[in-house]
Amino acid sequence: MAVQAQATEHINAYTIALQQYDRAVAYLDLPAGIKNFLRYPKRELTVNFPVRMDNGDINIFTGYRVHHNTVLGPSKGGIRYAPQVDLDEVRALAMWMTWKCALVNLPYGGAKGGVICDPLDMSQSELERLTRRYATEISLFISPHGDIPAPDMGTNAQTMAWIMDTYSMTVGYSVPAIVTGKPLNVGGSQGRTEATGRGVVICMDEALRRSGRSRTSEIRMAIQGFGNVGMYAAKHAYDLGYKVIAVSDVTGGYLNEHGLDVDDVMAYTATSHHHQLAGYKNAQRISNAELLALDCDVLAPCALENQITIENAADVKAFLIVEGANGPTTPEADDILTAKGIEVVPDVLANAGGVTVSYFEWVQGLQSFFWDVEEVNRQLRRVLIRAYDDVIRTRDQFEVDMRTAAQITAIKRVGDATFTRGIYP
Ligand code: NAD
Repeated sequence: MAVQAQATEHINAYTIALQQYDRAVAYLDLPAGIKNFLRYPKRELTVNFPVRMDNGDINIFTGYRVHHNTVLGPSKGGIRYAPQVDLDEVRALAMWMTWKCALVNLPYGGAKGGVICDPLDMSQSELERLTRRYATEISLFISPHGDIPAPDMGTNAQTMAWIMDTYSMTVGYSVPAIVTGKPLNVGGSQGRTEATGRGVVICMDEALRRSGRSRTSEIRMAIQGFGNVGMYAAKHAYDLGYKVIAVSDVTGGYLNEHGLDVDDVMAYTATSHHHQLAGYKNAQRISNAELLALDCDVLAPCALENQITIENAADVKAFLIVEGANGPTTPEADDILTAKGIEVVPDVLANAGGVTVSYFEWVQGLQSFFWDVEEVNRQLRRVLIRAYDDVIRTRDQFEVDMRTAAQITAIKRVGDATFTRGIYP
């Protein structure tokens, strides 16, 4: 965990989100007041709350929930448990959620939440008490038609089950649609756990197809992060026959030039300490910095923000970057990558598979009518490829990089909807 803090301490994610916004919005002919409105979070909640620890101590935790924008519908966004969470990070992630939902045409605005804590240092019962208390504290902000949380770094389906139960106990009846990313036995959707990683690979495959490249084991992939996103991206790519040569997590990188057996790596982390890669034998140890600079074809950063920066962008050797994480590339790094001719499928497109299947889960929950996994995956692919097409059309129209194109497409949709709704009162 110390590594995470070190990697991000000098770069403010919200500053970066605003820089990206300013870059994109400059291409749009929207009223200045609307452009200005979209820069601001709509509302922000900070909560400080006590949790009884297993040793009897009472610790105070700080958490946040930010709604960036709700013009297109209820706000949607994950909840992050990590030591480096702060209000600016949550603001940035909430803003990116607004653009992501608009880009894939979901009837949602953007939100995000977070609690400053180290989940790896807490027991399950401490995490349950923290989650139930945080859920109660932010119950002012969340509801099945107002703001619907989901998992993010450090949280998972179990966390969502606790939030769903806590909210349901308060209102007196079960409300599965209060969260998405729930376990299947309490109203989760088939395919949700794998959806973000699957979406990363759908986008990679589409980028390779469009550039006329081979889509076989000749393509060598390196993946940073082996959590929900990175692990399922690795699994899906491996199952399609791509060669995953390296993966990493907070404990470091693991390389096998001949290709990792991803099923074997997953079997290892299923029972390892904290489900981490440390101690995995069938690979050579490398650092996370080395992984980002590996001689490979596709690099998929799937861990956290600010990983490809002005410091290391010139070292990237992959010809394609597919961003599973939110905000892994800084604007200065973007410029260096563009100058090197490296294509970047940006976060708001590449990792939108998660929120897309979250939307399917919410719809299924509201209708109490559930789909099979084939239907979920078919609809997921349809939504992502349509968004990919939209981004390429905008890229060609404005002659910009894919990130700017994705943000132009999304900001235009939210801006136009704001204009159509009018300014209240
Ligand atoms: P997770 O907590 O399941 O996994 C995070 C992984 O990153 C772990 O393997 C962790 O060890 C690793 N990691 C942490 N710090 C690292 C470092 N310094 N170097 C290398 N690896 C490091 O989280 P997740 O849900 O997989 O989320 C990862 C990223 O994807 C985040 O940016 C998140 O916002 C984004 N995202 C997640 C979802 C989702 O559905 N879970 C959807 C869209 C985007």
